[in-house]
Amino acid sequence: MQPPPNPWPRLVARHLLIALTVLAIGGALGYLLEAAIALLGALLAWNLWQLYRLENWIRRGGRSEPPDAPGLWGEIFTGLHQRRQRRLRRVAGLRRLLDRYRESASALPDAVVVLNPDYRIEWANQTAARLLGLDWPADEGRRITHLVRHPEFMRFMDPDSPPRDALNLPSPVNADLWLEVRLVPYGDHQFLLLARDTTHLHRLEVMRRDFIANVSHELRTPLTVLYGVAETLEDELEDQPELFDSVKLLREQSERMKLLVDDLLMLSRLETGSERAEQDWFNPGNLLRNLVHEAELLSGERGHRIELENEPGLEILGTENELRSAFANLVFNAVKYTPPGTRIRVQWKATPQGGHLAVIDDGPGIAGHHLERLTERFYRVDSGRTQDRGGTGLGLAIVKHVLLRHDGQLHIDSELGRGSRFACQFPAERLRRAVGEAEIARSD
Ligand code: ADP
Repeated sequence: MQPPPNPWPRLVARHLLIALTVLAIGGALGYLLEAAIALLGALLAWNLWQLYRLENWIRRGGRSEPPDAPGLWGEIFTGLHQRRQRRLRRVAGLRRLLDRYRESASALPDAVVVLNPDYRIEWANQTAARLLGLDWPADEGRRITHLVRHPEFMRFMDPDSPPRDALNLPSPVNADLWLEVRLVPYGDHQFLLLARDTTHLHRLEVMRRDFIANVSHELRTPLTVLYGVAETLEDELEDQPELFDSVKLLREQSERMKLLVDDLLMLSRLETGSERAEQDWFNPGNLLRNLVHEAELLSGERGHRIELENEPGLEILGTENELRSAFANLVFNAVKYTPPGTRIRVQWKATPQGGHLAVIDDGPGIAGHHLERLTERFYRVDSGRTQDRGGTGLGLAIVKHVLLRHDGQLHIDSELGRGSRFACQFPAERLRRAVGEAEIARSD
């Protein structure tokens, strides 16, 4: 936009012309001083009058048309008026934009809730009512954790809990609906809570789990029969080498399938979470001693040196048979995937963060690029070698799931040529020192 032309040269010229004319006439008539005073008086009165009109116009809100005035005052009135009109137009445009954003956010199929730094509700869309049971605007200013009381949600929102990308939980208003909730920080310590209806995905996931569980379950009996028959035949056919090798292969393969089916069943049991309630305090000392003994048997002539460093009297809250499978997978892996004579240390101790179980070996280690994927189902570093050693590729996936159900985390450190360290970290709330002689005796 072009700036308006500078009015001052014309204004000064006009004032000079008037002043000179008045002074010339006054001088000619012999009233020069009186003419000068009258001139200044008139100028002052004129400017005061315009100032009064301006103040009056502003006092009335500047809503009416601006006063009409010639010259500089006219320019000032029009300039102020145009500026006000522009500001009003901008405000109206912004309001329309805001309304449009609100309308589109309201129409979103996902719940959107704007939270202040204290998690108090500043705004919520219509879907938030259907999915989360929020009542907008009645719930404005209320804390979201006072309205959505699901324990998992409270933990998800707790700033002291480990951060999670998303949380899956049933809707607080309709238990048939499943939601995926995310918390996105934005602006000045504000948060956007988004909840998406994932019922159809949840149903598919349940179907997938049920399918795997059912298939595994159905396969288990025929496989056990197959294995048993192959084992008996193997004993019978020892003197018929041409048949013996085939039957031996049959026995080995059916055993592998049995292991696979057992691991799949274990994984689906862990995923469905039905056993979560059966958690109790126990001392893992005996369990670890037994595992070390079994690992020595597994190693056999390969002669691994397995050491147990067990802090006595340290109890954990959990499901014993689940934790046993997890620890067994780690200890047996250390035997399976390291060469004969390798030193393996199994540690159970308390750290400032909580309970800590580590299995450390001086074996060949694992290349860095595998580490992130090790806990995926069927992920193997070297699939040929792993299968030779009876691995199903599900062991570390089971460990991860067991730890998830115990609020724990698996940390894997490994370096080629230096060995590996698999550590399970449990939170301090799941750890206690046994008091009383009975418990200490049990731990020894
Ligand atoms: P599996 O059930 O087949 O043993 P896991 O999920 O337990 O499979 O382990 C995945 C892969 O991690 C294995 O294929 C193996 O190559 C590797 N691995 C696990 N533990 C160790 C270890 N202590 N040292 C070297 N490699 C290991």
